[in-house]
Amino acid sequence: MIRLRSRLARSESVLGRGLFALLSRERLDDATWQEIEDLLLTADVGVAATTELVERLRTEAKVMGVRSPDDVRAMLRRSLLDTVDAGLDRSLATTRTAAGPAVVLVVGVNGTGKTTTVGKLARLLVADGRSVVLGAADTFRAAAADQLETWGRRVGVPVVRGAERADPASVAFDAVRVAIEQEADVVVIDTAGRLHTKTGLMDELGKVKRVVERRCPVSEVLLVLDATTGQNGLTQARVFTDVVAVTGVVLTKLDGTAKGGIVISVQRELGIPVKLVGLGEGPDDLAPFDPAAFVDALLG
Ligand code: GDP
Repeated sequence: MIRLRSRLARSESVLGRGLFALLSRERLDDATWQEIEDLLLTADVGVAATTELVERLRTEAKVMGVRSPDDVRAMLRRSLLDTVDAGLDRSLATTRTAAGPAVVLVVGVNGTGKTTTVGKLARLLVADGRSVVLGAADTFRAAAADQLETWGRRVGVPVVRGAERADPASVAFDAVRVAIEQEADVVVIDTAGRLHTKTGLMDELGKVKRVVERRCPVSEVLLVLDATTGQNGLTQARVFTDVVAVTGVVLTKLDGTAKGGIVISVQRELGIPVKLVGLGEGPDDLAPFDPAAFVDALLG
């Protein structure tokens, strides 16, 4: 998690930088609170969470008679950690059961880093001693299956693909079949992320899930979101959470934004835990999400 800190630090956390300047001042007055609020909003924490955080902090500071910048900083750290942690279960269901391999569906809009995340996730799982099969069910984007095959070779796991424009559900079904035959622990399936119409998406993802579940229950549906798209990404996310039961969010490209507060908005607005974070394009640039390390990185 030291890596998370340096990656976010490299992009210079908006919050950390601003707070440092603010809390170096002597007085903690209305203007200071207003500026803390502005900073949280700029960092993509979202309006509702920001209002709640600042209200709570102000009250606490008043009741406890807190004045020193260091104390306010410590209070803010605690409150942010409570908000980010939110008592959410971040474990990944990737263990083989009596029913067969754990099935992980990876969904999200094209360009968010879905295929890359599938490759990196395979790497994480292999490093954890799991045997993995990948399914290239993003048959709409021609290059997606080739890209996944490259990842498969890099990580040393088999990739099941179909013909171009094949039915995604049939590719997903085949991938599960291969994983069962090979007695693999986990099958991770990349899906198509074209946001044409909500009904189209619902039909396609719904069918993939239904068809897969003829063989094995789906244990995780991970939604990939690009952290750099900020609040706009949330609108797209809602389309997915409306059509499929998402169990966790993978927030990619956190290395490319100074606005890490999006983690808070995502969890709050969607009620779904961030389980993994993408911190770069390389094979080792995916990490389980650690709230404490994240808040430290955010505060810089
Ligand atoms: P897909 O269309 O959603 O499958 O997206 P891709 O997996 O092809 O990724 C789109 C681009 O984002 C590629 O150039 C990836 O290398 C890049 N990418 C994916 N994840 C991350 C990340 O965590 N950090 C950075 N900086 N780039 C990423």
